[in-house]
Amino acid sequence: MSETKQQCSAKVQRNRRCSRDGVVIEDDKSWCKQHAPSHVKAWEEARDARWEAKWAAQDAAVAKAERIKAAEAAVVEAAVAWREARSPTTLVNYLVVAVDELIDARKAAEKGTAK
Ligand SMILES: [Zn+2]
Repeated sequence: MSETKQQCSAKVQRNRRCSRDGVVIEDDKSWCKQHAPSHVKAWEEARDARWEAKWAAQDAAVAKAERIKAAEAAVVEAAVAWREARSPTTLVNYLVVAVDELIDARKAAEKGTAK
């Protein structure tokens, strides 16, 4: 990068160049601050990082919802097994474990949405 007085080398529309003065030289061409390849690359990386963060948040939300759904199914399964058992006292522990997991899954989901 170095100082220059030439016009920016960027093409902004079909056959039209950016009208701003070049203030940096990169790849042997002059560029305004917006169109300097290093600035464009940094901007694109920042944009990609924002998208990655958004997708990661969406994936996390889906994972939390799936965890709650699985925990609810496990509670129902444990409750039915407990109700149908000949010795329900031995199966009540499975029901307690399933309910605890459902409570934890719901708490984890609430934490995630409280921004
Ligand atoms: Zn420019």
